[in-house]
Amino acid sequence: MARKFFVGGNFKMNGTKESIKSIIKNLNEAKLDPNVEVVIAPSHIFLPIAVDAVTASNVAVAAQNVSNKPNGAHTGEVSVSQLKDIGVNWTITGHSERRAAGESDEEVALKTKAAIDGGLSVIWCCGESLEEREAGKTVEVVEKQLAALAEKVSGDDWKKIVIAYEPIWAIGTGKVATTEQAQEVHAAIRKWLRTNVSDSVADETRILYGGSVTAKNCKDLAKQEDIDGFLVGGASLKPEFVDIINSNQ
Ligand code: PEP
Repeated sequence: MARKFFVGGNFKMNGTKESIKSIIKNLNEAKLDPNVEVVIAPSHIFLPIAVDAVTASNVAVAAQNVSNKPNGAHTGEVSVSQLKDIGVNWTITGHSERRAAGESDEEVALKTKAAIDGGLSVIWCCGESLEEREAGKTVEVVEKQLAALAEKVSGDDWKKIVIAYEPIWAIGTGKVATTEQAQEVHAAIRKWLRTNVSDSVADETRILYGGSVTAKNCKDLAKQEDIDGFLVGGASLKPEFVDIINSNQ
């Protein structure tokens, strides 16, 4: 089964009301490949503006993070139902910047499950540090993250998950993984899904690459068999994001 190409834009803690509107206007007016699913993730505070501003039919809006608690005394957190209430249908979970701030594999898995149960789709992130790569532990680290996820989600939950493989050493550093390095890990993730979940989940789950993706390097990465799109940070704030979205044409 063909997997629909997917490009996410993680704006991180960047932007203003006006700049977010301007990025979205640019997307609305651009000629986007209709065969690509696009999801943009501004800061929580700009989500309502983004939901109102998007008119392009293949662009959706995601939160960058979500609580696994339904509601209550959790100062500074945002719940799944609050996101749904303002028209947000996606969230990122387990971005390495959240994991670096203390989120464990288990907490990320709980957030992912809570999001799915509450009606959100999820871009679930995984990836190794430079130290782990240099120690030859890349696949081991990613498999451990996957195993924690698979403990909490099952069955049709997987249909709501897009996996983003983001080597930490490549995020925001300008050091992109080579096509071989990325494809190797993507293939290992798919193999893990086949062995530990099911053939259909392995065949149908989109696996994105993230880490210093630009208009220059996206085309070669997009050609790799197991790369089904990208999660883009810095370049998603720039006009070249459109070229990245259209990289699979
Ligand atoms: C990210 O934040 O998910 C990311 C991949 O960032 P960048 O593209 O800037 O490396």
